[in-house]
Amino acid sequence: MRRSKAFIPTTKEVPNDAVLASHIFLSRAGFISQVSSGLYNFLPLGKRVLKKIETIVNDEMESIGAQEVELSFVTPVELWQESGRIEKFGKELLRFKDRKENLFVLGPTHEEMMVNLVCNRVNSYKQLPMHLYQIKTKFRDEARPRFGLMRSREFVMKDGYSFHSSTEDLNREFATVEAAYQRILTRLGLEFRIVEADSGTIGGSGSKELMVIADSGEDTIAICDHCQYAANIEAAVRGSKKDIPEAPEAEFNRFMTPDITTIESLAYFFKVDPYYLVKAVAKRAVYDEGSDIVLFFLRGSDTLQDVKAVNALHALELVDVSEEELQEAGLITGFMGPLNFNTCKMVLDVSLKNADAMICGANEKDYHYVGVNFSALINADFADITEVCEGDSCPHCDEGILSLTKGIEVGHIFKLGTTYSAALKAEFLNEKGQREPFIMGTYGMGISRLLAAVIEQHHDDRGCIWTLSTAPYIINVMISNIKDDQQMSFAQTLYEQLKQRGVEVMLDDRKERFGFKMKDAELIGFPYTVIVGKELMNGNIQLMDRATLEQETLAADTALETILQRIST
Ligand code: ATP
Ligand code: MG
Repeated sequence: MRRSKAFIPTTKEVPNDAVLASHIFLSRAGFISQVSSGLYNFLPLGKRVLKKIETIVNDEMESIGAQEVELSFVTPVELWQESGRIEKFGKELLRFKDRKENLFVLGPTHEEMMVNLVCNRVNSYKQLPMHLYQIKTKFRDEARPRFGLMRSREFVMKDGYSFHSSTEDLNREFATVEAAYQRILTRLGLEFRIVEADSGTIGGSGSKELMVIADSGEDTIAICDHCQYAANIEAAVRGSKKDIPEAPEAEFNRFMTPDITTIESLAYFFKVDPYYLVKAVAKRAVYDEGSDIVLFFLRGSDTLQDVKAVNALHALELVDVSEEELQEAGLITGFMGPLNFNTCKMVLDVSLKNADAMICGANEKDYHYVGVNFSALINADFADITEVCEGDSCPHCDEGILSLTKGIEVGHIFKLGTTYSAALKAEFLNEKGQREPFIMGTYGMGISRLLAAVIEQHHDDRGCIWTLSTAPYIINVMISNIKDDQQMSFAQTLYEQLKQRGVEVMLDDRKERFGFKMKDAELIGFPYTVIVGKELMNGNIQLMDRATLEQETLAADTALETILQRIST
């Protein structure tokens, strides 16, 4: 491609809301342009990178026998009603009516559509397993679209769905897909971790996320320093506590604690470690129909993990409650405790099961109980609702220590089981001739998010640094002075020769200053730039490596071979 003809509108302007390097550089270098909140155009360079990622994904999907399909973007609302996800997705679903007043939804993911496709077309266990996938635009009316391609409303996803006649076979396919996803991310040149993920209310170990390690990531992941354990903070659990503080000694008693309403002040007042205090967190749990105030009790040294708390209740979400709402509900803020409590629903963290020597609110203004033993609460609702912290012990090996790091979720693989097939009555005949719902897996990968993730991991203060497998063009041949016939003819020949060898090459033949063209090349991030300048008179040209910014002098007459060698390694 000749740069003089290419549509690459580079600019110095940074989009107003841009904070991430990927958002800034992809916009400035002319890969994408914003249309509206969360909506982006892909320009020629952006489209080339997207295609490269898609080609690698298609290649790896082909290698595991998944078949590509393409389902309609516009999906009938009835499918979402049948599966019950109309409420779960809520306002993320963009709904509209056609001219006949039929209601449709722009597909945010395609479980329902895929089940509907297979239903009555795959009828026997003999046709299973089957794995279908697509690479397709999705639409989610995200509450807070941000970070450019990272969290947009319209985005490109690879979504795959597998159908099985047994759980064993699903487990086999899940492991196969996990391995294929690892190969994809390795080929893209990304540093990543596969982590255990929240499986919603379905539970189990059947959900994993692929996290690209980056400080700018929206997800927090816990990683063990001793074994392979890694988990999203939403799903991470901790091993047994090693350094349990000394327990306070006190007989059970009701104790006056005037205006002592916080964990800090309570710890100071009683001179005890917050481990022995009970923290109350009030939230409003939102369900399909209505909402309720719920109290979560945990140790004063712990923090509530919202996703775990939502799962414990099978709720849609948790929202904050105001002081007034609490008072109206008859709750005595600052002095709430789980003993003799029946004002509203309560959930206790598992670490409080049989806990002894505790101090908790007495549900009476200015009073706490001390010396509390929770063994009498054996029938209360206990669940793991705390968030792991840096330094907690590993639940897997129990020897290692967990540390927290940030990641970008680029993929999510999930053992669905029969959730959707049962809801949509998609069944097959098993070996005994009985009808059974398909056992399913679902495998998502954020293609457009991956494009941004590559830049989050590979950039410097000058711009993008594309890896060889993702670069829109591998080589940029830059003519320093286009009025110089020798430079022009050498560069054009080299450009043609590289093209003939199948190398993706750009020829910067613009009538611009050298410095300007150089900055442009660095911003776009071609892995290599060949500089054809004055030195050509002495038989030399320069080769700049974008990652290191180092320039190497090459003999012009053997430059082609040297360049081909560089890009093959
Ligand atoms: P997140 O927690 O980031 O919202 P999700 O759990 O909603 O993601 P999935 O429903 O599992 O995501 O979708 C599969 C993949 O699609 C994700 O792993 C992610 O890479 C990508 N993805 C999801 N939402 C967006 C979005 N708004 N913009 C870009 N990519 C997205
Ligand atoms: Mg989401």
